[in-house]
Amino acid sequence: MNAISLYAKPSSDFDDKLAETVALLRGAAAEFTPITQASSLGAEDMVVTDILHRFQVQSGVFVLETGKLHAETLGLLDRLQTHYGREVEVYRPVADDAAAFVKENGEEAMYRSLELRKACCHIRKMEPLERALAGKRAWITGLRREQSGARAEVEFIEQQPERVKINPLARWTWGDVWHYIAIHKVPYNPLHDQFYPSIGCAPCTRAVTLGEDFRSGRWWWEQESAKECGLHVAADGSHEGEEPAAFEPLSAVSPVSPLPNRAIPIRAIPN
Ligand code: SF4
Repeated sequence: MNAISLYAKPSSDFDDKLAETVALLRGAAAEFTPITQASSLGAEDMVVTDILHRFQVQSGVFVLETGKLHAETLGLLDRLQTHYGREVEVYRPVADDAAAFVKENGEEAMYRSLELRKACCHIRKMEPLERALAGKRAWITGLRREQSGARAEVEFIEQQPERVKINPLARWTWGDVWHYIAIHKVPYNPLHDQFYPSIGCAPCTRAVTLGEDFRSGRWWWEQESAKECGLHVAADGSHEGEEPAAFEPLSAVSPVSPLPNRAIPIRAIPN
């Protein structure tokens, strides 16, 4: 069984959600130029890239190549560019900074403390992200409310201090994502066929088991409240639903929250 046969199961209002997503992306691209998509090359982000291409929404696409990605993820980056005939911008950490961190703290520093894990994420993700977003008025993500308790309140549009964040799949279910991948033959990471719903860096990602949270395979030795790398922090500096960060090996994780329904007030966002 592959991920498509396991997960592809659209909601009854899938067509409405897709129309809503396309309208949001078109409106955002018209309103907030330049705009770009931050792709992790995960299933949701592949769907967003496909929608941008299929519905001719003008947006850049970039990937943070942390130097710690799985070979399968790097292979997908090549396949994506071939499939869509477009170049994806690739941002990498500053080589000297990454090397100095490893020299001082070792290759497995992220398992030793939350501070070291976040320091690694800062060098390999946050600093490259800053470069990727420099000069952009908006960025697009594949965040969904269903992904974790911490993302249950994700809005379609978030006003951040320097730009707007667009989350066009906020209301989509995992079944919707895979239904879209199935009907449009979207290329995807083969790790999804091996029970990796959320895929990040190789040292910090593992497969999950039935009933576990979508994000439970990420930084699995940390408590749920600490599980973000800093890419998706709210304007006030917190994560959605955030509690004080905690570091506890092999903690339990909570089930997903129900999905609230929200409108898309794109014109309400100031320039
Ligand atoms: S996810 Fe893990 S390997 Fe990747 S940047 Fe963060 S701590 Fe480092």
